[in-house]
Amino acid sequence: MSKILIRGIEALLTVNHDNAVLTDQSIVVEDDRISAVGPADQIEQQYKDQEFSKVISGSHRLAMPGMVDAHLHLSEHLGRALFPDQLSTRPWVFNWAKPLYAAVDTEAEYIGTLLAGIEMIKTGTTCCLDMGTQNDVGNTVKAITEAGFRCVTGRHAADVKPAKLPAHWTQEMIDHHFFPNHEVALEELGRSVREHNNSADGRVRVWVNIEGKEPCSPELHAGSRALAEELGVGTTYHIASSIEEARVSEEKYGMWPVSRLKEIGALGSNLVLAHVVAIRDEEIGYLAEAGTKVAFCPGTSLKIAKGATKIGKYPEMIDAGVTLALGCDGSAAAGSLNQMQQMYLMAGLFKDCRMDPFQVPAELALRLVTIEGAKALLWDDEIGSIEAGKKADIVLFNLNTPRLGALSRPHSGPGLLGHTRLRRHGPDRWAAAHGRPQASAPG
Ligand SMILES: [Zn+2]
Repeated sequence: MSKILIRGIEALLTVNHDNAVLTDQSIVVEDDRISAVGPADQIEQQYKDQEFSKVISGSHRLAMPGMVDAHLHLSEHLGRALFPDQLSTRPWVFNWAKPLYAAVDTEAEYIGTLLAGIEMIKTGTTCCLDMGTQNDVGNTVKAITEAGFRCVTGRHAADVKPAKLPAHWTQEMIDHHFFPNHEVALEELGRSVREHNNSADGRVRVWVNIEGKEPCSPELHAGSRALAEELGVGTTYHIASSIEEARVSEEKYGMWPVSRLKEIGALGSNLVLAHVVAIRDEEIGYLAEAGTKVAFCPGTSLKIAKGATKIGKYPEMIDAGVTLALGCDGSAAAGSLNQMQQMYLMAGLFKDCRMDPFQVPAELALRLVTIEGAKALLWDDEIGSIEAGKKADIVLFNLNTPRLGALSRPHSGPGLLGHTRLRRHGPDRWAAAHGRPQASAPG
């Protein structure tokens, strides 16, 4: 059994129930779990006769839970800076993303996944919800296992060919992207879960993931969630990802996408919806009521002009008790897999567009990329905070650098989060909505 001591950590962001920020702490890790967290002198005393296989100095270090990326496409990782900057959602998907995916074979996917893993781990993300592969799930699971990160992945599926496809699409591309119907798709999705879920000693999970929106039938939307429930896993897909999608839905069904999901019985607590930029007030209530989670990708919104700050209601979702997490979406969409950038955007965008400095305080932004991400992935019993008994997914920042020096507020320390005043609209309001004890205000 390996036993590691991280000794005398200068600042520890636990992201626990009380959002405790502690100083001069030590962490003991036995195998892959945290066995003790406490004041350095207390841990020193408690373990004084014990041998450690490794001792890591926490001097000039800030520790926080490994970040969770709640919406990511590992398959597109070799597509960084490949697409033009001037694209809206539909041409992005059909003229660029899908042709890229059709060109990604198992070798490219394997290498891309390894590189994505390195990038995530190097920037503090230890877990992600991958939308899944259109190739062999076993190949992706192998790459994730070797790269060393924690992941939910799957066999990405769609079953409805849009009426109009770009002229350059070949039959081979069409066959690569679309199952003949929802039954065949669900069969394959179920098989991938049965064969690969809980790989790498439980570090890799496999869900019933589908693409969502127009390339998926109502039967596949509702069927994926029901199958996920039957198999004891989750599902995720894109929905309400642009105002154009909402308008098409209104025209076709007389209602916006989230209302449509409610109508067909597709909402549930084992579902993570990606983007959800086009949403009406009453639809936020549907999500809260069903326990459905949302993965907001700020970088994608900026790049593809989705209108997160113009029409998005992400702070309102948090207030209503919806579990909101953040995602990079992919290297093509966000330019990097660095969740710190998404956290920074989340902590700043709504302050600016609503001209309200109390929107999304730093402590809340941090929760969104840690414990709320873990909840979205149905994994918060094991990850998302630094507490005894949880998996040792811990990130250490070196504070002995010019960028992170003069640390007076640890949450703002990583140089990204800026303003942390917590009065009118801070975590207190958020905590009240979530039934949690109030976070203390620094004044
Ligand atoms: Zn996506």
